[in-house]
Amino acid sequence: MTRIIKGVFDFQKNVHGTREQLFKNLGSGQKPLALFITCSDSRISPDMLTQTQPGELFIMRNAGNIVSPYSWDHASGEAATLEYAVKQLKVREVIICGHAKCGAIHGLLNMDKLDALPEVKRWLQFSEPVLAALKRDTEGMSQEEILAIGIERNVLQQLENVKSYPFVREAVDRGELRLHAWVYHFETGTVLAHDQTKKRFVSLSDATKPKFNATKEEIESYIKSHQGGMDLTI
Ligand SMILES: [Zn+2]
Repeated sequence: MTRIIKGVFDFQKNVHGTREQLFKNLGSGQKPLALFITCSDSRISPDMLTQTQPGELFIMRNAGNIVSPYSWDHASGEAATLEYAVKQLKVREVIICGHAKCGAIHGLLNMDKLDALPEVKRWLQFSEPVLAALKRDTEGMSQEEILAIGIERNVLQQLENVKSYPFVREAVDRGELRLHAWVYHFETGTVLAHDQTKKRFVSLSDATKPKFNATKEEIESYIKSHQGGMDLTI
């Protein structure tokens, strides 16, 4: 704990005090640029990766960056977070960001070894649709290659789970919300993005940007209200 508490003191002394205005502004509310869904893995730091400030990312994290699909049968933290982000905060982007060497997806590929982690096993049910086609498509590949492909396909599966929510589909149809599938390779700093036109993961800089239906004026006013931020090219 000493390391963490010392970190808080350092933050208070060296960061908070020097950026007083930023933290004061946060008191008047939040208008984040995006809902960022990623894994709980300690090797991922969304703010560091995207170079964003407090107030700019609404973040949802759990093992495997999984979103339970739409259902009224049970309460879901993912459902509540997604609903709040889309309907209340009106974020314009949802980014699902998986990552290399994900332990949760490794578990998904080795479910028979998860008996000691029954909650993890149960949670991974929301990624299970990935498995059938993965086995078929990766025959003869190494474990490492299968894991890499499984991680990408899990992100796409979670995108489908996000789309199972009626309010998400409605916002996408109105042209007010865009969905993104990313995979972050922390060892190299590379981010791959799923290109809907090319139907595969490509370097983030090569990915075709999905378009908004909003007018140029609406986008300009949005950018102004967020004081810069994400690329909202139309
Ligand atoms: Zn992970």
